[in-house]
Amino acid sequence: MSDQIRILVVDDEMGIREGCKRALSLEQYDVEGAEDGKEGLNKVQKNSYDLILVDLMMPGISGLDLIKKVHQIDPEIIIIVITGFATIKTAVEATKRGAYDYLPKPFSPETLTGVVKRGLEKRALRLEAQRMQQEREQRLLELAHEKSRLQTIIGCMADGVLVTNLEGQLVLWNAASAKMLISKGKDKPGKPLDYYIGNKLVIESIHEVLAAEDKSVSMFSKEIEVDKQGTILMANIAPIRNEENNVLGVVTVLRDITGLKEIEKIKSQFVSMVAHELRAPLAAIKGWLEVVISGEAGGDEEQKHKWLLRAKDRSDSLLALVSDLLEINRMEAGKIAQKMESVQVTDTIKKIVEFLKPDIDRQNITVKIKFPKDFPAVQADPSDMEKLFTNLINNAIKYNVDNGSVVIDGTVEKNYVCFRVKDSGIGISEDNLAHLFEDFFRADDHRVKKIRGTGLGLTISKKIVDSHFGRIEVESKPGEGSTFSVYLPLKQGK
Ligand code: ADP
Repeated sequence: MSDQIRILVVDDEMGIREGCKRALSLEQYDVEGAEDGKEGLNKVQKNSYDLILVDLMMPGISGLDLIKKVHQIDPEIIIIVITGFATIKTAVEATKRGAYDYLPKPFSPETLTGVVKRGLEKRALRLEAQRMQQEREQRLLELAHEKSRLQTIIGCMADGVLVTNLEGQLVLWNAASAKMLISKGKDKPGKPLDYYIGNKLVIESIHEVLAAEDKSVSMFSKEIEVDKQGTILMANIAPIRNEENNVLGVVTVLRDITGLKEIEKIKSQFVSMVAHELRAPLAAIKGWLEVVISGEAGGDEEQKHKWLLRAKDRSDSLLALVSDLLEINRMEAGKIAQKMESVQVTDTIKKIVEFLKPDIDRQNITVKIKFPKDFPAVQADPSDMEKLFTNLINNAIKYNVDNGSVVIDGTVEKNYVCFRVKDSGIGISEDNLAHLFEDFFRADDHRVKKIRGTGLGLTISKKIVDSHFGRIEVESKPGEGSTFSVYLPLKQGK
């Protein structure tokens, strides 16, 4: 019912009204009548009509006024004017004011239905055009939304994005790629690549993919150094193809891999350093075993025993080195499960000194532990504390002089507890101080070379202190001794 065409006949002559209603109802239109302009206007305000037949000469609101008012309510209603001969001029005027056509009285039902049909066709066409226009506007709006959404997404990407068309012109890019590569023309798309980009390799690589005839090529990756500072970009260049597999352009995604490359380099340096460090004791062990096997000592069991002891000695060094390496690896891989608890480090230190007593006595070193009675405990991993202070106290003894001294004390400073290990040993030169915490560093000093060590103890110590949010400092003078200070955060309320 709602799809049925509705027509209103506004005429004060009942005969015409009823005649029209009858003729039009036969055509399956839903027809209503109104006996004057006022009633007609009322109905238009309440209902919606497709077409209105309006008599020009009516009491009250004139036909011309009614046309104006109806079109104010709904400009798409088709209005056909019914007019007596005397008002033909006015009828022409009415068509100028927006009426679709006029019907001079008297008219036959055929003429009426013919004019109405044409009027309704015109309305259908107009409505269809309107619908298409709305659809077009909606599509444009969606397209604009889609475009801005795409631009927002690309704009937020940390990777650089460049889109090049078939003519080799840059048509789209994001802020990240602009920062990485584009030197000028950031506001003007559509120019050749070399207008924006200075790096020849990038341009050549994009052109290579653009020109690729091989339809199986889906992506091409290249590492490109783009500036004098050594910035390295990984460029993934992929052709954009249509359904027929023809290349329409190229999309390039750029990732700054400078940091990754640096890590790779450090890792490979570390591996070669480790191999180098492992090689020396292994070669020595092999050497001692070979002389024993060769029978060079003849029946001299004591000599053989000596050589075997040397091999064992070097294998101890090797084992220490491997243990230190594993320790570092555990820490770096974040595999270390720290058991943070309240640790009375002064007790740990006393135990370590007790354990190192044979070495202390061998060098006749005086060790003094001087902590105030109520020295606070720290929140730390107990086994980490043991490793840390074993390293420091062991070094204070190893790199000491005969009859030397070691003083271990501590103070509370603001939010930190400070532990100091002070020795009267060989000391460290200023040059060496700068490298002290580097992997495998050992001072280039004949006295150090004589002492067994891996050069990893302080690396591990620093990592432990860092993981406890503390810091480690050294003061030293060659020939006078060294002081290592460890600062660990004091837990509030302890
Ligand atoms: P290691 O003792 O196994 O060689 P460390 O990492 O503990 O390794 O120490 C690195 C280097 O720092 C030592 O080889 C030594 O040259 C120097 N060093 C460390 N502690 C002291 C110290 N207390 N006095 C003098 N030199 C030290």
